[in-house]
Amino acid sequence: MTAPNPHYQVHGNIAVITLNNPPVNGLGLATRRAVTAGLAQANADKTVVAIVLTGAGKAFSGGADIKEFDTPQAMQEPNLLSMILAIEHSAKPVVAAIHSVCMGGGLETALGCHYRVAAPGCNVALPEVKLGLIPGAGGTQRLPRVLGVEAALNMIVSGEPVKSELLASLPGQKLFDKLAASAESLMEEALAFAQSIADVRPLPLVRNLKCKHPQGDAYFQFARNMVKGMAKNYPAPLKCVDAVEAATKQKFEAGMAFEISTFMGLMMTSESRALRHLFAAERAASKIPDVPADTAQRAIKRIAVIGAGTMGGGIAMNFLNAGIPVKMLEAKPEALERGVATIRKNYEAQVTKGKLKQDKFEQRMALLSTTLSYDDLRDADMVIEAVFEDMGVKKAVFQELDRVMKPGAILASNTSTLDLDQIASFTLRPHDVVGTHFFSPANVMKLLEVVRGKATAKDVLATVMALGKKIKKTSVVSGVCDGFIGNRMIEQYGRQAGFLLDEGCTPAQVDKALEKFGMAMGPFRMGDLAGNDIGWAIRKRKYVEQPGVKYSKTADLLCELGRFGQKTGAGWYDYQAGKRDALPSALVEKMVADNRASLGITPRKIGDEEIVQRLVFAMVNEAAHILEEGIASKSGDIDMVYLTGYGFPIYRGGPMHYANEIGLFNVVQAMQRFAQNPLDDAAIWTPAPLLARLAADGQTFN
Ligand code: NAD
Repeated sequence: MTAPNPHYQVHGNIAVITLNNPPVNGLGLATRRAVTAGLAQANADKTVVAIVLTGAGKAFSGGADIKEFDTPQAMQEPNLLSMILAIEHSAKPVVAAIHSVCMGGGLETALGCHYRVAAPGCNVALPEVKLGLIPGAGGTQRLPRVLGVEAALNMIVSGEPVKSELLASLPGQKLFDKLAASAESLMEEALAFAQSIADVRPLPLVRNLKCKHPQGDAYFQFARNMVKGMAKNYPAPLKCVDAVEAATKQKFEAGMAFEISTFMGLMMTSESRALRHLFAAERAASKIPDVPADTAQRAIKRIAVIGAGTMGGGIAMNFLNAGIPVKMLEAKPEALERGVATIRKNYEAQVTKGKLKQDKFEQRMALLSTTLSYDDLRDADMVIEAVFEDMGVKKAVFQELDRVMKPGAILASNTSTLDLDQIASFTLRPHDVVGTHFFSPANVMKLLEVVRGKATAKDVLATVMALGKKIKKTSVVSGVCDGFIGNRMIEQYGRQAGFLLDEGCTPAQVDKALEKFGMAMGPFRMGDLAGNDIGWAIRKRKYVEQPGVKYSKTADLLCELGRFGQKTGAGWYDYQAGKRDALPSALVEKMVADNRASLGITPRKIGDEEIVQRLVFAMVNEAAHILEEGIASKSGDIDMVYLTGYGFPIYRGGPMHYANEIGLFNVVQAMQRFAQNPLDDAAIWTPAPLLARLAADGQTFN
């Protein structure tokens, strides 16, 4: 006798097969086996007249099991296609009882069922395009047959979820045979529905439905034009159009063959590999190797922010947006007024643009309060310091915080360059101290580097990571080092950009090469946006401390002219009042050329490939040190930092994934070539031991 199948139950004369693979009933091998076994059992049981397929817990099914991504298990029989075929071939009707989440392979499974009953409020989607793919288990062939070509194509190209009640209201739709009154009554209604159709034969199959668009070719031409505009560097959206067109022009089986071959082709593209990497890296970033997922968290109900300047205001907005009250403290009343006015202005701009409702704006402002006294911070559960970047000022602030904050409160610093461990040492509770390195503008940028000090407690980390999620940030843990993950790498990128100017490039040439590669902004435009004086101050401090470090002095010359960037109307480029367009500056180009001549350098023509490789590989080598030192715990974290904080092109998957794609052997070879250049700094091009080892072993960053 076989053990009873836990996914299988019989209610009266209806068999119920329940997908049960938390959290979203991903269709992994064990789940697929349970479904086919359940079908066989129901068909063999003479007392069963119909079958209901549903999902346990929080979903019908979220689709493929991400644990099987890129593993042979995904294709192991019964694979998804075979499971759907088994459902179609069931001699007894199969009714999908759909609720909560029905996406990707989950929706494709439902489309293989003979009937579908849905609960209202269910999110229905084919999101494969977001991974650079098209649906690969019949989604592009079956959805147009039940929803009509246009509605189906919109869902497939966008990947966005649509609510079940909206889909059920589309005229002529055949996706749902019934919309249940509520999620609670879904099972009861699905069982009754199954009873009512138990004797209907032949069994209806979506594959047998007609699929045409009345305008035929003209419609698909129009769709291609629309999609081309938004697809940019990604091949998948246009392939979605091709596949849906195939559904209208080819027999079902031929359309399926077209879909699967297109899917397989897309799986091999670098764009899809990058997007799949990003998907996995994003989920992995929230996991800290030695901090278990069930670590108890501290309750954070009230936040205090010290400093209402550029960062403090933006940081406060994150919490106000999430409905968490914020108290801001400043040294002087004028600074508080200025800070509050800036927050108000930011929200008002959103209201004017229609992005924020007036009542929401008022609710958020009502959550904001201010003070000049530390004693008013006693009831805050967490405080984030964003005062001047000066150790003396930080010391005074943290000593005050240590005095007034209640036991167990989290003390966070937004410092970008100072030693967090030293800051923690100003308190008697270094285990409660953590870094929260927001990026500017803090209310907009997705990235949050969570800086883990020597003493930072695990529950503090777990709490801050969860809080990051609450305020919709991508949080990545970094150890303590100069610049943490992101800025430590960008320093090497910037140094290479400087050498390139000395060797013969113009700022615009370097920027164009990086922008063609896909960076949101080249290094010089980025400097102008962030303020060239910030880098200047860091160089003054650092290179005085480490006088041996070789770097181009051009950026210092620029700052000596007061050209700090957009904020001063001039930087590497010229700016017209009120405009952001970077106009090449004859003065800067002359300054670069004069400096080059004074160094006795004859300029040479430098190609885009060398420009991009020098900037990116210099970062990759620094990142290899960062990994080796344990500052980052995995290479995917470094990629997340660059994808969300530095405008690295998504379709390249981040610097580490990009290096893996090029092949680490090839990266090291290029580095050895660059090391021969006497105008460069050979030290940068000594491969980090980790990189050298992986390259020699033919491996990749993990
Ligand atoms: P800012 O000069 O705009 O604001 C600092 C604010 O702190 C000012 O309003 C000042 O009045 C206030 N302040 C100074 N001393 C104080 C004290 N003792 N008590 C209370 N308030 C005090 O600076 P910012 O750009 O917002 O930077 C703040 C912190 O954030 C720094 O540590 C900086 O390194 C870090 N940071 C800045 C950026 C950025 O792009 N600006 C990005 C990431 C991190």
